[in-house]
Amino acid sequence: MTCYMSTLRYRLTCLLALLLLTSPAQAQWHRLPFQTMGTEAYVELWAEDDAKGQALLHGVQAEFERINQLMSPYISSSELSLLNREAAARPVTISSELYQLLQQAEQLAILSEGAFDISFASVGFSYDYRQQLRPSITELTEQRPLINYRHIQLLADNQVKFARPGVKIDLGGIAKGYAVEQAIGLLASAGIKHALITAGGDTRLLGDKRGRPWLVAIKHPRKTHDIVAQLPLTDSAISTSGDYERFFIEDGVRYHHILDPKSGQSPSGLMSVTVLGPDSTRADAMSTTLFVLGLQRGMVFIEQQSDFEAIFISSEHQLYFSSGLAQ
Ligand code: ADP
Ligand code: MG
Repeated sequence: MTCYMSTLRYRLTCLLALLLLTSPAQAQWHRLPFQTMGTEAYVELWAEDDAKGQALLHGVQAEFERINQLMSPYISSSELSLLNREAAARPVTISSELYQLLQQAEQLAILSEGAFDISFASVGFSYDYRQQLRPSITELTEQRPLINYRHIQLLADNQVKFARPGVKIDLGGIAKGYAVEQAIGLLASAGIKHALITAGGDTRLLGDKRGRPWLVAIKHPRKTHDIVAQLPLTDSAISTSGDYERFFIEDGVRYHHILDPKSGQSPSGLMSVTVLGPDSTRADAMSTTLFVLGLQRGMVFIEQQSDFEAIFISSEHQLYFSSGLAQ
């Protein structure tokens, strides 16, 4: 198109035509599945601007990876690995971010009287679910007393010290929920109003799905591709802990990745617990906690948390709802 007429009217016409020829930024859903923290993750968001939407998808992925580099027990340069290598010998200074998450873990350990305890790893590292390995009775007897959140001393100035040699920590019960919450915070501060982020069993919703609620499924704990319920949710967090994600069966006993700190072994009364609440860090940690507490003690515990609800699936395939859900 040639624009050579010089009157204002023609210049405006040309400008409008040019605008129409360039494709306008379109509001649309943006989606990205990715692998992180040893699990499948997924982000879905509504953005008014295509380029911004794409950039935010990758921003979310980068945020997960940043947290993974800080907290993974499999990455030797992570601050978590540094603690596990050195904090028994001397106080180790860590980032205030990790320090604050350790404080949150400690609060839940106190509140749950040790059912949630990140030092479970003192025994946990002796399990290898892929290779079907578990600690011997001797190892269990030796390592079990090392599980105790009181052995993790949170000192001044972001310093951490372990009270005994052999104490190890792992954030597998809280880090994914934390990462989901951080990533949702990143989207919210970028002005996004509708999003879903999920990593393994932890999901967080921002707003609704533009006029209708998001639908989040609870997996069937024994039939991989089936679901037991689908919950319509907005602006909330939902986390499931189950005995079916990482496990092996030996002589009819299911050894899975959640350990009761009191025994160093997997609890057996439940197949899964789902926690609903306002934030994903606590929902994640609480689902692990309830799994350890079991149905009776878990129900009492969740009833005391005013803004959280839970759905338990017992080993007998029975569903139990906390009072805020059972109407
Ligand atoms: P997922 O990792 O599948 O989302 P959970 O949120 O239930 O499942 O977390 C299970 C993880 O929590 C385990 O893999 C382990 O890293 C950690 N963990 C196991 N037992 C405990 C416990 N008693 N307290 C704190 N963390 C635990
Ligand atoms: Mg959890």
